[in-house]
Amino acid sequence: MKQVSLPDGTSVPALGQGTWMMGEDRSNRSAEIAALREGITLGMTLIDTAEMYGDGESEALVGEAIAGLRDQVFLVSKAYPQNAGRARLRAACEASLKRLGTDRLDLYLLHWRGSVPLAETIEAMEALRDAGMIVRWGVSNLDTDDMEELVEAGGQGCATDQILYNLTRRGPEHDLLPWLAARHMPIMAYSPVEQGRLLGHRALATIAAARDATPAQLALAWTMRRDAVIAIPKAGSVAHVRDNRAALDLELDAETLAALDAAFPPPRARTPLAML
Ligand code: NDP
Repeated sequence: MKQVSLPDGTSVPALGQGTWMMGEDRSNRSAEIAALREGITLGMTLIDTAEMYGDGESEALVGEAIAGLRDQVFLVSKAYPQNAGRARLRAACEASLKRLGTDRLDLYLLHWRGSVPLAETIEAMEALRDAGMIVRWGVSNLDTDDMEELVEAGGQGCATDQILYNLTRRGPEHDLLPWLAARHMPIMAYSPVEQGRLLGHRALATIAAARDATPAQLALAWTMRRDAVIAIPKAGSVAHVRDNRAALDLELDAETLAALDAAFPPPRARTPLAML
């Protein structure tokens, strides 16, 4: 499994698993648990969830899926911005840990920026780290100017920025990705197949078919072509997890990259970071 280094030197798999919308429909529960377990077996051991997803139901489902497997998993969750301050972060984290059936998160993220000052979020995150409830912290949906403010506010310990990045969302290539790379901070690319919408794109399907790949494999292989990208597709079935895992075996030659650049052009100017 291809690995990505975090700023503290820890290696995590370049291909993980997202869980938004999981745990919301009981009829999908056993398929979703089987999908997450298959992913772990295949080495996609980084699992991303959030207190927001299904109002805690996603974390509860992840807890069930990783029961007995906790030490194999790199567990990521996220706090609502309104909880990311001195008064509430500890309780939010405790509730996430309880739902997940664990005593620590490997990574805890600020889900998006709200009204709590960044300096206060950093202080609250570092208090959780000192208490052993989280191993490290990071952010999500922060654009370059927010990241600059974060570092100025004392946030040098930030491990990652989880952002919307895929073939149809290349804006971060202009300035956010270079800014993060210069600080050895990888990104976590969320919605790497644009919540499924990308998979029906005609150019993607044509380029993929010519290489005996599925559109999902090509889109994921492209997202992970850079060294410092962790892709976290959500797949609700074992078949989709296996399909996604095979993206790591797909080599992208110069001709394929050029065809994808022609169909999905890189940004020419600064583009504000989009979020879903
Ligand atoms: P994705 O781009 O991962 O797309 C998920 C959709 O694609 C699902 O409908 C899934 O279907 C389908 N899919 C996945 N693999 C395949 C495949 N091989 N073939 C066909 N269809 C496939 O969207 P998400 O928005 O879920 O993003 C991934 C994760 O990123 C989230 O689950 C969440 O953990 C995180 N995220 C974080 C955000 C943030 O603000 N920080 C915002 C959005 C997402 P099926 O379920 O049937 O397999």
